[in-house]
Amino acid sequence: MVSFIGTQEMQNHLKKVRLEDAIARMADMIREDYLRWSQFDKCARVAAHSAVGVIELMPISDGQKYTFKYVNGHPKNTQAGLLTVTAFGVLADVQTGYPRLLSELTLTTAIRTAATSALAARYLARKNSRSMALIGNGAQSEFQAIAFHSMLGIQELRVYDVDPAASEKLIRNLRAYPGLRVIRADSIAAAVKGADIVTTVTADKTNATILTADMVEPGMHINAVGGDCPGKTELDAAILHRANVVVEFEPQSRIEGELQQMPADFAVTELWQVLAGSAAGRQDERQVTVFDSVGFALEDFSAMRYLEKYVMQQDTRLLDLIPEMMNPKDLYGMGVAAATPARASAEYAVPINA
Ligand code: NAD
Repeated sequence: MVSFIGTQEMQNHLKKVRLEDAIARMADMIREDYLRWSQFDKCARVAAHSAVGVIELMPISDGQKYTFKYVNGHPKNTQAGLLTVTAFGVLADVQTGYPRLLSELTLTTAIRTAATSALAARYLARKNSRSMALIGNGAQSEFQAIAFHSMLGIQELRVYDVDPAASEKLIRNLRAYPGLRVIRADSIAAAVKGADIVTTVTADKTNATILTADMVEPGMHINAVGGDCPGKTELDAAILHRANVVVEFEPQSRIEGELQQMPADFAVTELWQVLAGSAAGRQDERQVTVFDSVGFALEDFSAMRYLEKYVMQQDTRLLDLIPEMMNPKDLYGMGVAAATPARASAEYAVPINA
């Protein structure tokens, strides 16, 4: 039997643990996996593009476990009452190739993305960062806000979205966090002015300029989450020219990240190097840092490990996905034979020398 974690099981789990604890544990597991970077068989994700969105497969293995995620990105979906991003994933055993866990990853992706953003910011943002602008107040936004509040100590959040209802929803949902002062800004520039950290998490299938170079102040850290697909970016290229840019997996980020706007020889650092201490994160208080996040399969590998460790044992259903049989060579014998009309054996059992 294959374990199954659906939306219901994940909701049950999140009722038992605090979201900030789930994010912190997830961040620890992501860090552990980034620190063993060389053990992973990595590739850029496989994308199927259409005029309205993208469907992607994200495989990775460490030689023991293999995971993949199916994820889509359809910014216009919300107009039809559908999510922009949905996902599910599989964890399999490399030794046998058998899938062990099939799970929802829509809620889980929001947690892992926020955990990765906050983890990167720990190394890239100024240590005394207390305020963050949050541009784009959709499905991911609460997770980002709570991750930066609990992991970075952000106390003031300036929020902006072109859709006022999205900001209202975010402000309502964050009332449960009295330590987080939420200020509604009437423009991106107003939200960003004086902020220590800026998170952009908008969805639009275009080369948008959410942040222009003149909005960026010395010492800011920019957590650019929404540009994650060819032709879908959020930052003015001039910002990248003056910043220390950190990416997850360079070959994928060159195709999908803010980096797609830059020449092929534009130098970047991979996150694992910063976490391992082999490359500098922030070098001084006035440096502008950018985490050009697109989402990498390793983070979903860590997320599947989290689900296996903390959710699978308690909140799980069993799925009859793979046949269980006495004689593994007799797949036909598993009911197929019974469905085939019986005929006289003599009709078929013709001796070969007849
Ligand atoms: P969503 O559709 O729920 O929310 C996006 C919000 O952005 C909407 O409220 C929309 O009104 C707002 N928006 C669009 N254009 C804007 C603009 N010019 N200024 C201000 N607000 C604007 O989507 P979501 O699930 O929150 O995802 C947000 C983005 O993050 C998507 O582009 C998605 O692909 C990306 N994402 C990235 C990762 C990653 O790992 N990097 C993971 C998940 C999602």
